[in-house]
Amino acid sequence: MHGARAVGDRGRLEEDVMAIDPVCKMIVDERSAPAVSQYKGKTYYFCAPGCKAAFEEDPERFVTPKKRKGLFARLFGNRKS
Ligand SMILES: [Zn+2]
Repeated sequence: MHGARAVGDRGRLEEDVMAIDPVCKMIVDERSAPAVSQYKGKTYYFCAPGCKAAFEEDPERFVTPKKRKGLFARLFGNRKS
């Protein structure tokens, strides 16, 4: 028997079940997320079915970090040491 699991289990960190909606960047509770999707073995949680639909239409757009090439080029290109 694994008797160690007791009432204290409810006191787990809330962040444990919080995910970020990759579409609108909202924080979503994994336990009550209105929409869930799987992509490349990862589970994504959404605040609304509409966000899930947008994600599934073009998942790459949301899972790959945005490359702000222009901005970085300006930030670092202008630096003179
Ligand atoms: Zn959303």
